[in-house]
Amino acid sequence: MSKKHNFKPESLMMSHGYKPELSEGSIKPPIFQTSTFVFKTAKEGKAFFEVAYGLREKETTEEFGLIYSRINNPDLEILETRLKLWDKADDCAVFESGMAAISTVLLEFLSPGDVLLYSSPLYGGTDHFIKDFLKKIGIHTISFTPKDTQEDIVKRLKNSGLANKLAMIFIETPANPTNALIDMDMCKSIANLYSSSDKKVYFAVDNTYMGPLWQHPLQHGADFALHSATKYLGGHSDVIMGALVVKKLFQE
Ligand SMILES: *Cc1c(COP(=O)(O)O)cnc(C)c1O
Repeated sequence: MSKKHNFKPESLMMSHGYKPELSEGSIKPPIFQTSTFVFKTAKEGKAFFEVAYGLREKETTEEFGLIYSRINNPDLEILETRLKLWDKADDCAVFESGMAAISTVLLEFLSPGDVLLYSSPLYGGTDHFIKDFLKKIGIHTISFTPKDTQEDIVKRLKNSGLANKLAMIFIETPANPTNALIDMDMCKSIANLYSSSDKKVYFAVDNTYMGPLWQHPLQHGADFALHSATKYLGGHSDVIMGALVVKKLFQE
C-alpha cells in the first residue's frame, strides 16, 4: 500500500510495520508484555535461533521469528521500522537508554589502541564514558571544539602522532547543553581522509537535539545516527530509551 501511494513518514507513523491481523484486529499495537515467545514446533525454534545467532541468512520470504524480548519484541520492531523511515535508514535498533545505544556503538567499533576523535562539549554521560571508561581500556581520545576548522583538527591529529590509529569520529550537533553546531560534512571529509581500502574510519552523530524530523546525519555520510529517545523523540519525559539508525554498513 505504501508503495502505491508513496505516503510520507508523517502518515506512515499511524500504521507502518504493524499488522492488525496478528493482534486480533486491534487497530493499535497492543503492548506485548512478555519475555518469551512460544514456538509452533522445536524445528521452528531452531530455525529462528540460527538466524538470531547469524549462523545463516534469513530466507527472503522468511519472517524473523519472535524468540525472546531482549532479542526481538513486536513493539520494539514496530518502533524500529518506523524510525528507519525518517532517516531513510536500512536498519535501526532501539536500546534501554540513549547511553546504552552510545556506549554499545563505542565499545563495538573501538578497540584498545584506537583513537576516537570527538567534538566538545558532549552530553555529560557521553563525556564521562569517553574520558573515563574508554581511556581506562586503552582507547586514545582527542577532542575538538566547534571553532576548530578541518585544518586545525587535522593538525591536532598529526601532532598526536596517532593519526593512523583514528577509528571513529563522534559528534553531537547541536551539542547539549550549548547548542553549538558541528559541520557534519567536514567530519565526513576527515573520516574519508583517514579511511583506506582496508580500514574504514566510522562517523557517528548524536542526533538527540534535532531529532529525526529535522536533521538526517545519514544523508551527510554518518555511519551511525544515535538518539537519546528519552528527549525529543519521546517528548513527554515519561520514558528512558535510545535508538541507533544506520545505512547498510557491512557489505564486507
Ligand atoms: C540525554 C542525552 C543522552 C543520554 O541519553 P539517556 O537516554 O539519558 O541515556 C545522550 N545524548 C544527549 C545529547 C542527551 O541529551
